[in-house]
Amino acid sequence: MEPQKLLSSIPAVNDIIHYLAANYPKTPDSLLSLVAREAAQKIREEVLAGERLSLKREDVFELASAILERKLQPSLRRVVNATGVVIHTNLGRSPLAREVMEAISEISVYYSNLEYDLASGKRGSRYVHVEEIVRELTGAEGALVVNNNASAVLITLNTLALGKEVIVSRGELVEIGGSFRIPDVMARSGAILREVGATNRTHLRDYEAAINENTALLLKVHKSNYAMLGFTKEVSGKELVSLGQKYGLPVAEDLGSGCFVDLSQYGLPKEPTVQEVLLAGLDIVTFSGDKLLGGPQAGIIVGKKELVAEIRKNPLNRAVRIDKMTIAGLEATLRLYRDKKEALEKIPTLHFLTIPPEEIKKKARRLKRALLRVCPEGVEIKIVKTISRVGGGAMPLSNPASYAIAVNIPKVSASRLEKKFRDNTPPIIGRIEDEMFLLDMRTVFPEEIPIMVEAFQRVLGDVYG
Ligand SMILES: *Cc1c(COP(=O)(O)O)cnc(C)c1O
Repeated sequence: MEPQKLLSSIPAVNDIIHYLAANYPKTPDSLLSLVAREAAQKIREEVLAGERLSLKREDVFELASAILERKLQPSLRRVVNATGVVIHTNLGRSPLAREVMEAISEISVYYSNLEYDLASGKRGSRYVHVEEIVRELTGAEGALVVNNNASAVLITLNTLALGKEVIVSRGELVEIGGSFRIPDVMARSGAILREVGATNRTHLRDYEAAINENTALLLKVHKSNYAMLGFTKEVSGKELVSLGQKYGLPVAEDLGSGCFVDLSQYGLPKEPTVQEVLLAGLDIVTFSGDKLLGGPQAGIIVGKKELVAEIRKNPLNRAVRIDKMTIAGLEATLRLYRDKKEALEKIPTLHFLTIPPEEIKKKARRLKRALLRVCPEGVEIKIVKTISRVGGGAMPLSNPASYAIAVNIPKVSASRLEKKFRDNTPPIIGRIEDEMFLLDMRTVFPEEIPIMVEAFQRVLGDVYG
């Protein structure tokens, strides 16, 4: 049909509203009218783009219903992470332990002593609630928590090096993703970047040669999401500390994913823990709360007492301050670290990182058995060996062995299957590998297995009608 004719066959916005009102009672008129207009507009665009060659009233009503249903659901929703990427930034990084959720819920539903000193009955500080336990766990003299690690780096640079030079190795001028780049953050902090060394090799003498009367800080940045192989050389934090001492300069390290437990005992690469980095003598160390630590989004700054106190006093601190729900969640997460065994069991990020492949295989077997029970002839369900990822810009070279369920439905492509599972409520996010749709069981909570079975049944219903 001609576009002009098709356009004139689009139902009036009022008719769409009437249709929606009949099918979605109790929905506010303003929302119905917004959705009706959006649906009519979308159809108009599709017609003009030549994407629709015929049009029925029902098509428009169906689209309007779909738009409305999407708007009636919360935008931020729970998903099932079957990607095998443990610290998946797009999927919310670290899921929290139950105990942590309970602490957050109590503090957010009731009043709290957020800035009230219960001993004196006077005004207190929100920072004390996590400061002490961070110091206890890391051995640091001083501690401060802020909104995230990006703000921790920003406020550290702004406090210690405003208008002055910060020396960084060229090999460590990383981009973390989401537009966090060390040179850009440095510029916005008001510090002046003084890059030294070559891309692949930086020597202690490079740092030393760059020191002048305007130098304020030596900075080391964790390479996080990338690695250098071959003819490389980097200067350790310890070496930088001795250079700093020689010239009376503080040394800071942006650790990215700070970790409190040595995960190399679980087959992961050796990463220095926050405690170890502090023992090397670093003056300031910053790291994330929701990467390897497995807590809520936060930035943690630890180090020398006077420097941390200076950072705390920076007026920018108010702009990057941590809120009470995060303080509750972070404190509860940190308390779990008092018993390392408990931390590894209860903090989901640590649990998923250290779970033995045999345990993952058990989850895969459970899912496979349940799927086979509802699986029609011709559909293939198998367990395949695969490789997970740590994620969150941590340990990019590590390939932890894992097991996934591969689903193969004849005549249904892996990408269509991926979309069908993604359209489920809750969405199930898998991945495609070698034209196969995979559900990596490393990051799946055992209680999510029935959800996956239901989703599978729904997908089969859609496909076979
Ligand atoms: C992840 C990361 C950051 C940013 O941390 P957020 O908590 O995401 O703000 C900064 N620096 C490094 C080296 C990182 O790995």
